[in-house]
Amino acid sequence: MTNNSKIWMDGKLVNWEDANVHILTHGLHYGGGVFEGIRIYNTPKGKAIFRLQDHMVRFYNSAKVIWLNIPFSMEELCEASKTVVRASRPEDDYLRPLAYYGANPEGKIGLNPTKMPTRVSIVATHMGAYMGKEQLESGAKIITSTWEKPGNRSAMLNAKICGNYINSVVAKLEAVHRGFDEALMLNADGEVAEGTGENIFIVKKGVLYTPPLSAGILEGITRDSVSIIAKNKGYDIVERSMTRSELYLADEVFMTGTAAEITPISYIDDISIGSGKAGSITKELQKAFSAAVNGKDPMYAAWLDLV
Ligand code: PMP
Repeated sequence: MTNNSKIWMDGKLVNWEDANVHILTHGLHYGGGVFEGIRIYNTPKGKAIFRLQDHMVRFYNSAKVIWLNIPFSMEELCEASKTVVRASRPEDDYLRPLAYYGANPEGKIGLNPTKMPTRVSIVATHMGAYMGKEQLESGAKIITSTWEKPGNRSAMLNAKICGNYINSVVAKLEAVHRGFDEALMLNADGEVAEGTGENIFIVKKGVLYTPPLSAGILEGITRDSVSIIAKNKGYDIVERSMTRSELYLADEVFMTGTAAEITPISYIDDISIGSGKAGSITKELQKAFSAAVNGKDPMYAAWLDLV
């Protein structure tokens, strides 16, 4: 895998092909790591990182939940993120900070990571339209996963912990193997939780609804951005639990996420949502979101960190 951009690893920029880890890396064996996904946008003033500070706060919070001590300050990692973006290719639109329990210097193996050094890296790469261009415009087709979302008793869901994601990975594979774009996860009570890497909203009679944190979801930064934009446009947003059949009967459904941005959902379990096309409020929000992230709406300028 060659690429002439640089990767920030444990305090310095290294060449793409030199960003390797030891096979005894604890995080690789047991999932003891945390990560973020952050978008880079091209604005009239150059490349900008979207809500960098908010993503970094969540990164440190995720680490706190798994007792992982990040040996850099938040300011250092924000600066490192900008350094990586400056050294990235024009098409790179996504940043991936990752911190994890590394390999024990004496080669010891075991669940207890207290003797493992923390390793930290930041990579910039190309993401593009996460579920595809066509899906972003006309709507994605999703299924309800046969896998249940782990509950708040068994998983730390409001943190982006590497090991948590195997549930999402298998659900995503199930969807893709069956020819669909994405999977919807229900929690142990059968309530709608979220996508494998996205939050979910429905629109019914002009009101937006989205599941609450107690449904077992990640507190998405795009979910927050979209809620702020929708409120500023005069829409009511209600956080409440919802059922799978409510989704089928919604006027519009869309998913939000750093990678997915705002992706309309046209079919769930082969049932059309509304007319089976992207809904009008979804499109309106997509347009406003696009203006905000691309630096074309001064109201949201504070969300963009110019590099
Ligand atoms: N839920 C899960 C499980 C996710 O992995 C993500 C992606 N980070 C989201 C929701 C959306 O969060 P955000 O908008 O902050 O990217």
